[in-house]
Amino acid sequence: MTARAYERSRERIMARFEDKEVARDIVTLAGMTEIYCADHHVDSLRTPYESEAVRAGVYPARKIPRLCPECAAHTRYGEVRRALCRREPRPSCKTCSNHCYAPAEQAFQRKAMAYAGPRAMFRGHAIEAIRHLIQTRLS
Ligand SMILES: [Zn+2]
Repeated sequence: MTARAYERSRERIMARFEDKEVARDIVTLAGMTEIYCADHHVDSLRTPYESEAVRAGVYPARKIPRLCPECAAHTRYGEVRRALCRREPRPSCKTCSNHCYAPAEQAFQRKAMAYAGPRAMFRGHAIEAIRHLIQTRLS
C-alpha cells in the first residue's frame, strides 16, 4: 500500500468512528473482550486500552477496558473491521455472508464472545448484553 492509499483508508476509518452505530458496536466488542480477558489472562499485565478509536473519543471514559496486549491487538483489529463494514443494517457477524475477519481473528472473536455473552449482564454491561442477545436472535 502506498503512503497515500494508507492515509486515505485511515481517514475513512476515522470518519466511520464518528458513526454512532459503529461506535456502539466497538464499545460492545471491547467490553465483551474485557470480560474474556479478565478471566483468561489473569497473569498478563492488563492496562487501560489504547487505540485510534480511543483517541478519536469512541469510548466514554468509564468504558475504556483494561486489556492484556494480546486482547488489545485483537480489539484494534476488530475496531477497523467494524469501521469498514458497509452493510446497513449490519447483520450479526455470525450470520454475515461476507466473513471479513482473518481466520485466526475470527476464531479468537468467536471464543471470546461465546464466553463473555452469557456473563456480560452481570459485569456492568447489561445494555450491551441485551443488544448482543437481540442481534443474535434476530439473525
Ligand atoms: Zn487478554
